[in-house]
Amino acid sequence: MALIVHKYGGTSMGSTERIKNVAKRVAKWHDAGHQIVVVPSAMSGETNRILGLAKEITDQPDPRELDVIAATGEQVSVGLLAIALQAIGKQAVSYAGWQVAIKTDDAHTKARIASIDDVKVKRDLDAGKIVIITGFQGVNEQGDITTLGRGGSDTSAVAVAAALKAQECLIFTDVDGVYTTDPRLVTEARRLSTVTFEEMLEMASLGSKVLQIRSVEFAGNYKMPTRVLSSLTDPLLPLEIEAKSGTLISFEEDSNMEQATITGIAFNRDEAKITVFGVPDRPGIAYQILGPVADANIEVDMIIQNQSVEGKTDFTFTVPRNEYTKAMQVLANDVQAQIHATGIIGDAKVSKVSVVGVGMRSHVGVASHMFRTLSEEGINIQMISTSEIKISVLIDEKYMELAVRALHKAFGLENP
Ligand code: ADP
Ligand code: ASP
Ligand code: MG
Repeated sequence: MALIVHKYGGTSMGSTERIKNVAKRVAKWHDAGHQIVVVPSAMSGETNRILGLAKEITDQPDPRELDVIAATGEQVSVGLLAIALQAIGKQAVSYAGWQVAIKTDDAHTKARIASIDDVKVKRDLDAGKIVIITGFQGVNEQGDITTLGRGGSDTSAVAVAAALKAQECLIFTDVDGVYTTDPRLVTEARRLSTVTFEEMLEMASLGSKVLQIRSVEFAGNYKMPTRVLSSLTDPLLPLEIEAKSGTLISFEEDSNMEQATITGIAFNRDEAKITVFGVPDRPGIAYQILGPVADANIEVDMIIQNQSVEGKTDFTFTVPRNEYTKAMQVLANDVQAQIHATGIIGDAKVSKVSVVGVGMRSHVGVASHMFRTLSEEGINIQMISTSEIKISVLIDEKYMELAVRALHKAFGLENP
């Protein structure tokens, strides 16, 4: 007998029919003698629908109130799943984040989990119940509902698994594992049976939304075995087969194995680029520009500062597209006049494409192969950033899909 956490995403919970299938699958694992905690997302489209309602009222809704409404989608899901399990004769109980409690910081709409109380859950599990906990939401010190950022149910699931010291966290989703790139964009994409934790972290942070990045961080910090697998197979698929399916995140690099140079290609459509130009080139200027942006809780990603000419330089950086307007406002109100910059321009139609692989460490020429491939397609590179195991480029969004397909082919990712 083991304690196992199952997470089901929006598509997997997308209709009452699908929820009944989830219940059958969960019951199968419980019947095999395991203790099961389930963390479901809202039904697909629901979070978008709810957030859309707020946007119909105002462009900049209060984040605290956004969380109040956004968290309701998951609350419907847990209740429906408990009902579906009870309907097939299982004892099940659902909890909202605050009931558990899953405590977070105050960063509304992108809160971080601080602690999870396991008392109630353990008591129910020991009484033979299946416990269902809302994904995506928590509660802060003041007792206000918070949410963990889009795709946050993955993080709830892995964090719950870590807190309960579960044997494994199974992320059931609408694809049957982690692929070399999004299989919806590149049909030749290949499923990986394992992916190293480091690679998964890079892929997630660079836009592969199959797992939210913080879920991968939790998996790494707590060495929680985490597997991505399909929820769309027959729910009565034999458990032994299901348990080995999908993609396992591994924590060891097999040093004997010849690593492929590149493991996968990640992309993020929704980037925005901002240039502050005519900036005096003196100590402290990067801080004066980026400090207020960070204070506004906006994440900055790629950064370049140009060579200065006659004591003036240009400073360019990227932010998530949904923070673009806010970042431009911060710069106009709190930065431009203070540093005597000549102007600020932005482009919210840029995307980032990245090649990722731990094998890059021992292979040279990856960057030149990547740049040649893009140049052969006539794609202009606007910014570049690298780490030991990834190379990212910023390009015009209209070339993003072309770039991903060309790179997938150029690095031979369709072949094992
Ligand atoms: P869920 O609702 O289950 O959380 P998501 O839509 O958040 O599902 O994540 C699954 C989706 O991630 C897939 O449908 C796929 O389109 C996308 N995806 C992006 N990159 C990859 C990748 N490298 N491997 C698998 N899926 C990927
Ligand atoms: N329902 C939330 C979202 O759509 C959380 C999740 O699905 O993981 O972002
Ligand atoms: Mg998701």
